[in-house]
Amino acid sequence: MPELPEVETIRSQLAPLVCGRTIERVEILDPRWCMPLSRDELADALTGRRVEALQRRGKYLVWRLDGDLSLVHHLRMSAAILCDPRPEPQHLRVRIVIGGGRGRRRRLTLAIVDQRRFGTAQPVFGEAALESFFERRLGPEPFGTDFTAEHLWRVTRGRKAPIKALLLDQRLVAGIGNIYADEALFRARIHPARPGGRLRRAQCGTLREAILDALQAGIDAKGATIDDLRHLDGARGSFQDRFLVHRRAGEPCPTCGEEIVRTVVGGRATYFCGQCQPPPRGVPVSGAAAVSLRRLRAPDRARRSPPPRASP
Ligand SMILES: [Zn+2]
Repeated sequence: MPELPEVETIRSQLAPLVCGRTIERVEILDPRWCMPLSRDELADALTGRRVEALQRRGKYLVWRLDGDLSLVHHLRMSAAILCDPRPEPQHLRVRIVIGGGRGRRRRLTLAIVDQRRFGTAQPVFGEAALESFFERRLGPEPFGTDFTAEHLWRVTRGRKAPIKALLLDQRLVAGIGNIYADEALFRARIHPARPGGRLRRAQCGTLREAILDALQAGIDAKGATIDDLRHLDGARGSFQDRFLVHRRAGEPCPTCGEEIVRTVVGGRATYFCGQCQPPPRGVPVSGAAAVSLRRLRAPDRARRSPPPRASP
């Protein structure tokens, strides 16, 4: 699923092409895109409006149109926006014709393709309604001033859920998904299954920094392409080639050389280094089991680790 860096990449590529221009025609081929609104209702609401700005909030792309209308657009699992694709792409769901430009690009066609058809769009009228839409769904933006170490400390107090699962909760912090949660926890040297409430205050500060570093690295690489994410011209992001631990099970940890482990935390595939991110004591985690299984296969490494304390 596109996460903050992938949506930000799409936003920054698309904004100069559409801002200040007019939506000439909207063809919604798949009615699921705008349910419960009908295709005609949404197409009518959008047609003829000028795009004033293209913004991002969490993993949402927000089309700010004239007349105080916003289109809140979520790409979900597999959607991509292609500009003037030739030939017509597979899995086309929506076609948006943008006019009002000059020269060769006087008119351009955006094709929203989505193999798994989970992407959605919803019109929202007025600033207050837009604010309340996001207030109900999203916590602070990672790069905003509200996302502080203190915020992370406060929202994790008393929480028994693994920190990885908490990071995926968009109400705690917006924009992080499975890739950047793994990458941030590795950078912060925090085991993904550590209960949120057991993070120390200093770890909250380290984790905040690690989240910003991981997201910025993703933005710098123009996002990651794992399934279907593509840029406007169909190109792929490159962050998948720079993952530190995500999807790197069996490869050496870039810090200590230990084998990276795959486990499941909160129902999601999770990758970490058992050496750099030691399992929390007293918490039965499948990650810890994965580490010990690996040590069974590598007795020379097991000998280097301290012997388990004998119980009294
Ligand atoms: Zn390591």
